[in-house]
Amino acid sequence: MRVRSLAIGLLVGGLALTACGKEGTPTNDATGGPSTTQKVAENVKVEGSPTFDRITKNGKIVIGVKEDQPYLGYKDPTTGEYSGFDIEIARLVAAKLGFDEKKVEFKTVQSAGREAAITNGDVDYYVGTYTINDKRKEQISFAGPYFVAGQDLLVRKDDNTITGKDTLKGKKVCSVTGSTPIQRVRDEQLTQPENIVEFQAYSQCVEKLTNSEVDAVTTDDAILKGFAAQDPDNLKVVGKPFSKEPYGIGLPHDDKALRDKVNDILQTAIDDGTWQDIYDSTLGKSNSKASPPDIERY
Ligand code: GLU
Repeated sequence: MRVRSLAIGLLVGGLALTACGKEGTPTNDATGGPSTTQKVAENVKVEGSPTFDRITKNGKIVIGVKEDQPYLGYKDPTTGEYSGFDIEIARLVAAKLGFDEKKVEFKTVQSAGREAAITNGDVDYYVGTYTINDKRKEQISFAGPYFVAGQDLLVRKDDNTITGKDTLKGKKVCSVTGSTPIQRVRDEQLTQPENIVEFQAYSQCVEKLTNSEVDAVTTDDAILKGFAAQDPDNLKVVGKPFSKEPYGIGLPHDDKALRDKVNDILQTAIDDGTWQDIYDSTLGKSNSKASPPDIERY
């Protein structure tokens, strides 16, 4: 009996320890929880930013994110806690704009709804594997990039027939509505149109892959590596990226003042090692390679 309660005590103690980060923040090691809490800036001013005026008036920031992408943007179904690299970048920006975690509200927005959520003001900014490109820049603007991914393929572990983008003909390929990878599958006719399977979220594609209802899931390698790391016995990433996907923070189109401010925040985080700390405690745990990119100012 004594031994048993000691064992239980150790177990509970162990759980309590692993459930807390350096400064008592909850972590989720399976999906990349935060290891550090960012210092909140004081007396922040962003002259001429209508978005900053709005968040100041509301007393909180609403940030659009993903909730089904392990190590990037993931919502724990039991605790409701968000974790991952994108989430930590989002929290960093909020802290440096003067808002602590209690004044941050995350809102899940899928790929197809991002531009609308930003232009309608449903979110103040968006951080979720969001590729910077000219077409999107017609409607919104981007700070960053803060990471560069590349389009790749996720397949079942025992599949040796899919070895790259040119081996997809006749295969069922799954991706997400409104994403750059599904557009590339169509533009480059990587498989026949009737073989393209489309969902709102990548986790739905991964489920179909595991059930053998599709043969491959295609999107950014950073996303696919997260899913593979969660189910290494059944899934693997092909590992031959065939595009460049620079991730930006989506902002309202004409808010140059906020874009410049967010770019300053990202640059400081890259220069002082914060970017690396965030990366190492989240995405770095899923075999993704780290390389802080050059910020593009426009
Ligand atoms: N980075 C790509 C995109 O922005 C794919 C990932 C996603 O759908 O979020 O479309």
